[in-house]
Amino acid sequence: MTEQTHETGLASEGTHAEDTPHRRATDDPSRADYWRERILAKLVYQVGKDPEHAEPHDWYVATALAVRDRIVDHWIPATRATYAKPVKRVYYLSLEFLIGRQLRDTAYNLGYVDAVAAALEGLGTDFETVRNLEPDAALGNGGLGRLAACFIETMASLGIAGYGYGIRYDHGLFRQALPDGMQRELPEDWLAYGSPWEFRRPEARYDIGFGGSVAASHDAHHLGAREWKPAETVLAIAYDNPVVGWRGRYVSTLRLWSARSKDPISLEDFNRGDHVGALADRAKAEAISKVLYPSDSTDAGQELRLRQEYFFTSASLQDMIRRHTVNEGYSVYDLPDHVSVQLNDTHPAIAVPELMRLLVDVYEVPWADAWDITRNTLSYTNHTLLPEALETWPVPLMERLLPRHMQIIYLINAFELDRVRDEFGDDGALLSEISLIGEDHGRSVRMGNLAFIGSHRINGVSALHTDLVRETVFSGLNKVHPGRIVNKTNGITFRRWLFQANPGLTSLIREAIGDAFLDDHEALSALTPFADDPAFREKIAAVRRQNKVALAGLVKQRVGLTLDPDALFDVHIKRIHEYKRQLLNILDAVALYDAIRSNPMHDWRPRVKIFAGKAAASYATAKLIIKLSCDVAKMINSDPTVRGFLKIVFLENYNVSLAETLIPATDLSEQISTAGMEASGTGNMKFGLNGALTIGTLDGANVEMRDHVGEDNIYIFGMTAEQVAERRSQGLDMQETIHASRHLSEALDQIATGVFSPDQPDRYSELVNTLTHHDYFMVTADFEAYRAMQVHVGNEWKDKDTWWRKSVLNTARMGWFSADRAIREYADGIWHAKPVDRD
Ligand SMILES: *Cc1c(COP(=O)(O)O)cnc(C)c1O
Repeated sequence: MTEQTHETGLASEGTHAEDTPHRRATDDPSRADYWRERILAKLVYQVGKDPEHAEPHDWYVATALAVRDRIVDHWIPATRATYAKPVKRVYYLSLEFLIGRQLRDTAYNLGYVDAVAAALEGLGTDFETVRNLEPDAALGNGGLGRLAACFIETMASLGIAGYGYGIRYDHGLFRQALPDGMQRELPEDWLAYGSPWEFRRPEARYDIGFGGSVAASHDAHHLGAREWKPAETVLAIAYDNPVVGWRGRYVSTLRLWSARSKDPISLEDFNRGDHVGALADRAKAEAISKVLYPSDSTDAGQELRLRQEYFFTSASLQDMIRRHTVNEGYSVYDLPDHVSVQLNDTHPAIAVPELMRLLVDVYEVPWADAWDITRNTLSYTNHTLLPEALETWPVPLMERLLPRHMQIIYLINAFELDRVRDEFGDDGALLSEISLIGEDHGRSVRMGNLAFIGSHRINGVSALHTDLVRETVFSGLNKVHPGRIVNKTNGITFRRWLFQANPGLTSLIREAIGDAFLDDHEALSALTPFADDPAFREKIAAVRRQNKVALAGLVKQRVGLTLDPDALFDVHIKRIHEYKRQLLNILDAVALYDAIRSNPMHDWRPRVKIFAGKAAASYATAKLIIKLSCDVAKMINSDPTVRGFLKIVFLENYNVSLAETLIPATDLSEQISTAGMEASGTGNMKFGLNGALTIGTLDGANVEMRDHVGEDNIYIFGMTAEQVAERRSQGLDMQETIHASRHLSEALDQIATGVFSPDQPDRYSELVNTLTHHDYFMVTADFEAYRAMQVHVGNEWKDKDTWWRKSVLNTARMGWFSADRAIREYADGIWHAKPVDRD
């Protein structure tokens, strides 16, 4: 079905009539005139613009619509094939999908980038301009949401019948502005011009209830059906975004729910003259899908957040059951044979009592059967061990908002505790640890325990994280359900993060080892011998330099700073969080600044430290860390004695598109979280794949990256997770540690006394005070090891043969971190799902 046609050699999905002489050139989507005709038609008839007067944005919409038609040509047959030869359907429930732009991704997976680009050229514009007009779909905060986006694309690439379910937020993650280095959150408005990718499905709508009461049932049996009479009902309306896989193999559907009021306007109020009050219910209902919660750990106790979670979970389960029963004609008893539901973190954990409610109350399934069906259908991915991010909901809030679910949770809990008591004896500590109800600060429902008990598999996202899940948060549950916790190390889609983001590197690899790796990512290992080929290394270095020149152009344009493309580009981009330790990197920058000034004759090599990342709006320390980076940058960048040996850049508004530009231009990747705190990381994988060398701790998937690339090809430093735990148990006061390091004490002194903040000398005194007396994240304890490793990295950078050899080996050995591998592991080990047969 595929054919290597055009320049990039990527498959265009040929049609059967390809060789017939009667076929018009404009029927062949690998040709520019095909696209020219269709883009013009879209521009005129759907955008309604005269090509003479079209704005650049009109060309973007016309192009996206023309490309979308080709997705539909795959979507409909793919959907038909799934009904004709049923395979297990996989539903991925996630409150976040951090998608980014879709035009290049889609055109690339279908193999049409070159033809579309040529058509646009002929129409007086160009592909880069047009694609850059697409706003990022930023319906997520960071790694968790980006993983969901990688997984939906990957399911389509592998032919798994996958659906993503989430919320169509009117406003995605805030735009970050940094006036004077202080983060300001500006509203994001990705739908201002509408989205050309989505299909509104007004017929796919479900009632979502809140509040009200539960009627006493006729039968006295406490396990029987109940009638929940919600006080309030909100409508969930579907919007479908088809996501096309590699070479058009399959098309997954990302179905996002938008909230609508059942009664758009209260005519009674309106007629009484209360024109604003007439719209109040509508505003309350629609608030549910207005805005993404801008935190990468949970905002505890916010009612609107719980409404969002229940809203999208209930709509998704109702939709899934309708497809299963009405469309496919199966019984709900067979649900686990045909359906798998993956819960991305605890945000959709309310699925456990909601599926029970639907089965028991609506489908009248006996409780015990309903429980088997639920557990065999659901599985849950844990993403964090941070105590503040483990979701709990106050019992009174749950009782008020979801009274029937609260009853069901109590029943599930009672059965579970009874069973454990029977089997393990009356072990009070164990029973209170595994209970669904926490008693700490008022009674609350523990969503992690709920998701665990209601799932047949619970997975961690890296080998180390999974071990820690077993030993810490779920140690009790692991004891009573041995074997339920499994590991599925995260992966990334190589389509977006290598082939599209770094076409120069991709071409070099293809020249060297052929095209097998485009489909089989582990075939990248064929690149290994090229690490010893000086000519190849030179080409790799030249591609990196080109990418750095492009990034330098962007930095010049955005912040007015001139970067030397031959400098070491040292990049630290991710959410700003104490555990991710941007502070450690800043302290090293200050120490390096001091070293350069006190030893100006040393053989320094230019280094550029680049930061980017958003802080949760409510996270004051993270915002202060941004401010400190900017203050330090200002001083260093304007100090003539540094002579360009060190520059610091903080780029505003980190998002997927910025990551796509930064990562291929990176020499050194910063993955320096406090060991034991980063569940996996996926940024680390994107960099390694693109040939950046990693400086990192033994945390998350860094551990497995070391195993794959080899310990000589990665710069690992600092305490292990075990050592961190041990050190914490000795107390968090670090005065001795700081005294022992001249570099560290000097750097901290300067920051504390206002050297970098002359306008407000005490701005960082509290921050430094915390590092000194309560350094939970071990910034000071790891400082010397980090600095020593950074000095070593600087020396290694001087030996270009060694550097580029290691770079090639990183790319060659990252194949395992493909999301294709990760999804195959989920499909085999959790979902038992096979690919759709399309022929
Ligand atoms: C990959 C990615 C992340 C996750 O990065 P980590 O370094 O793993 O925390 C966050 N945001 C964006 C935009 C990404 O592309």
